[in-house]
Amino acid sequence: MTNVFDAFSGTANSLYGELPDPAADAGFDPSHPKRVGFFTDTSVCIGCKACEVACKEWNLVPDDGTDASDLYRLTGMSYDNTGDLGASTWRHVAFIEDVRPHGSATTAHGGAVPAEPTTGHIPSGLPALGGGALPKAPRDAATAPPGPGGTGTGTVDLLTLLPDAGAHGQQTPDDERDVRWLMASDVCKHCTHAGCLDNCPTGALFRTEFGTVVVQDDICNGCGYCVPSCPYGVIDVRGSDGGAHKCTLCYDRLGSGLEPACAKACPTQSIQFGDLDELQAAADARLAELHGRGVNEARLYGRDENDGVGGDGAFFLLLDEPEVYGLPPDPIVTTRDLPEMWRNAALTAVGLGAAALAAFWKGGRR
Ligand code: SF4
Ligand code: SF4
Ligand code: SF4
Repeated sequence: MTNVFDAFSGTANSLYGELPDPAADAGFDPSHPKRVGFFTDTSVCIGCKACEVACKEWNLVPDDGTDASDLYRLTGMSYDNTGDLGASTWRHVAFIEDVRPHGSATTAHGGAVPAEPTTGHIPSGLPALGGGALPKAPRDAATAPPGPGGTGTGTVDLLTLLPDAGAHGQQTPDDERDVRWLMASDVCKHCTHAGCLDNCPTGALFRTEFGTVVVQDDICNGCGYCVPSCPYGVIDVRGSDGGAHKCTLCYDRLGSGLEPACAKACPTQSIQFGDLDELQAAADARLAELHGRGVNEARLYGRDENDGVGGDGAFFLLLDEPEVYGLPPDPIVTTRDLPEMWRNAALTAVGLGAAALAAFWKGGRR
């Protein structure tokens, strides 16, 4: 594994920039497994929180409150009762309510309502974006529920069962305002260049053979150096045991050939797990599909391998600016400038030494 102390003792690996194989960089044999990760497509998240619950259950993560009375706390942020990622919240489902005067904006950035979703939703299941009432979805033999009260034999389109199909999903227009919900399940990004790992002085944080980043509880001494080193504010020290904790990408499950608990529990495949290169290709295709349907606000976050952390092992499709979701727009690994800083420090030391020698030499000649 690499840390800043290695970086200046001649055993340094990469601290910044594009890095095709972080596991190999950390010393694993070339035969190690392919890098895995998450592609979280927030456009199909329904905010059910199954991912949060599955994570807590599988990993025995304690509740987030400091006492029992805080267990069902209200955060004042819509249906969000966990607030943020932390030592005891390894998955966090954000609920963002975007409230605007009716008609003031037709999409997240004021663009035109996509013309294609005339049935009130984009066919892939993506809830319609933007303001204005949408036409009521027709119910026909292909979508009507079978059995009592139904006339059809096809699959049930749940959207058509709502009293007003034009007000479904994340879009709730009324006479005076448009309310749009953005829901997104956040997690540790398992960065290509992980500031938490690079700054851990004990080696408690390490890069796994799958390219993920994991804390070893029995080695962590709770110093907290990793906490400010994370550009996303993910990792934290838990008060009850004094150790740093975060998502392990279910390292134990990966070792048994299982997918992570959160991805397994997600009913909409908003959380997709797999080989990172395949997820990246799937994300690119999904983005092109949405742009083709006029959802121009869609964007990938953490996908760019040339960004400030060398790209993320867990990346996202967002429907608005990262800041709207509480994500930093331009994260940079905290070790990026260290080589430059040490170079400057060395030059300064050499300059001071030369000045001191010159002063002695001059003093001796008088
Ligand atoms: S730096 Fe933060 S986001 Fe990246 S691996 Fe560490 S804890 Fe996760
Ligand atoms: S991968 Fe495992 S540890 Fe990480 S958020 Fe999902 S369930 Fe929790
Ligand atoms: S990511 Fe999946 S499991 Fe988590 S809240 Fe969204 S839909 Fe539910």
